Amino acid sequence: MSEAASPPRGAELRLTGIPASPGVVSGRLAVFSREEEIRIHPTPIREEQIEDEMRRLEAALLKTREQIQKIREQLSHSLGEQQTDIFEAHLMVAADSTIAGAVRRQLEMRKVCVESVYQHVIRTYAQSMKEVEDPYLRERAADILDVGRRVVHNLLGRKLADLYALDEPSVILAHDLTPSDTALLNRQLALGFATEAGSVTSHTAIMARSLNIPAVVGLHEVLDQCESGAPVILDGYAGLLVVHPTEQTRYEYGQIEKRRHEVEVSLEALRDTPGATKDGRKIILSANVELPEDLPLIAESGAEGIGLYRTEFLFLNRVHFPGEEEQTNIYRQVVDTSRPHPAIIRTLDLGGDKLPTHLGLDPEQNPFLGWRAIRYCLEKPDVFKVQLRAICRSNPGGKVRVMFPMIATREELSSALAILGEAREELKAAGVPAAEVVEAGAMIEVPSAALIVDHLAPLVQFFSIGTNDLTQYTLAADRTNERVASLYQPTHPAVLSLIRMVVAAARRHDIWVGVCGEMAADVVMTPILVGLGVDEMSMGSVAVPRVKKAVQSLHYGECQKLSSELLSMDSGEQIRQRLQQVAQGAYPELVG
Ligand code: PEP
Ligand code: MG
Repeated sequence: MSEAASPPRGAELRLTGIPASPGVVSGRLAVFSREEEIRIHPTPIREEQIEDEMRRLEAALLKTREQIQKIREQLSHSLGEQQTDIFEAHLMVAADSTIAGAVRRQLEMRKVCVESVYQHVIRTYAQSMKEVEDPYLRERAADILDVGRRVVHNLLGRKLADLYALDEPSVILAHDLTPSDTALLNRQLALGFATEAGSVTSHTAIMARSLNIPAVVGLHEVLDQCESGAPVILDGYAGLLVVHPTEQTRYEYGQIEKRRHEVEVSLEALRDTPGATKDGRKIILSANVELPEDLPLIAESGAEGIGLYRTEFLFLNRVHFPGEEEQTNIYRQVVDTSRPHPAIIRTLDLGGDKLPTHLGLDPEQNPFLGWRAIRYCLEKPDVFKVQLRAICRSNPGGKVRVMFPMIATREELSSALAILGEAREELKAAGVPAAEVVEAGAMIEVPSAALIVDHLAPLVQFFSIGTNDLTQYTLAADRTNERVASLYQPTHPAVLSLIRMVVAAARRHDIWVGVCGEMAADVVMTPILVGLGVDEMSMGSVAVPRVKKAVQSLHYGECQKLSSELLSMDSGEQIRQRLQQVAQGAYPELVG
């Protein structure tokens, strides 16, 4: 926990960041700073104290194992057994007799307190792990340091702030949370989160929206101004963290919440109505899914199927990749939840900000421009084929939809399709029940793909535009970097022109086109996406009722005219303002 000075008691502090996931919560703050390395003074001990020191270490190791077990149990309730096997590796470190043996030898040699010796042994051990060839063993270095930190805290009788084992419902404040961290949050106790870093389209923010918990990101260096336990209100609409809110602020938030709740209730009535404009243009509104726990929300939201299932979350926080059976079962669950509508299962999009901990991959200079998504899969045909086989097996005798992320060249798409073909052939030859019909799609999220879209269209049955990446790659603005957040403009005329090109090509080739980036979830963007003529919009299920209301309040013909007007403008900011104005006029209750 941060040991920074508290703001004066009772003095309200308003910290402004970027709204990342809507909703308002109040609770106690839990502050996490990842760097909790403790400096330990090597206090000398006498020879006869060595056994006592070893007993203290054994007690600390036992406590550590109990804590890890507890976290593992808590998480297995929410995530399922298989997703928590990373903790097995942690338990093994906490029971490692080689480490204990090395500590004893050092204690005998150096005769200083066990905390200091243990910390030294752990660091040396982790360092030697980092240097080995085997990527699996290399990655164990992080586990060793993690467990070591916990043991040292236990030896010192200090409490380690534990993101995964909150004691009470809390609003989390951290410098940053990775998508892997977020996947492990306890849904019952994590009321919302605020981070110093991050942006709206980082995968962490996307997950917060899926989980339906409020989030504020990009708060910039606020950790030192906040202390754990402080009462807070987190406003995910306005992007505010209010520390020590006054009675007046609490009252005002109560009123705002009440009005918002009324709107939410009114939207529930739309659940079984279609996503169609006033003049009858039908747009399929489907759901994005990150974790299997998101699935129950889909039926409630009124989404027509799943437009993007991000499979990579299955591969994070684990020691081994899930096998074909496990993947088949999960994809089957996805397909079944989506019935009678189709589900689009996207192949692995690892890399960028989604790094599996166990691969031991060397950090890249520019991970979003690096070994990501289809680039990784095409170099790992074994991993890729297992996934494709599992996707094909997810709906025996029926239809599945699969799509490939981050396509930049026609060759990549052809190679991916060839491996898909091989997977199908293999299943057929082995008599394994698999889907009869497999529809394949390309994500259009790299400008090069948008520009050669006529060459891609003949190869696939659909396109899905990933506006999160399309925006970052078009404007060369890292989607997770709050310092360039103002440049990251989905409404930039260059991004809109690329979307228009993709829709036009899809029409020429008679295939359908959707948008599955965060633009689809933002009701301010609905008029332009409708006007540009996309056939489908896929978004976190929480956003579906709002976007449906927006679509139903619009007129397709007017949106077409509006999109021509907007595409003749030269400023992303002006286009956004104009869209804000249109949204305010058409559905003020959703944008107020
Ligand atoms: C996108 O880039 O818009 C997209 C939907 O994919 P992801 O956010 O997972 O990169
Ligand atoms: Mg993407």
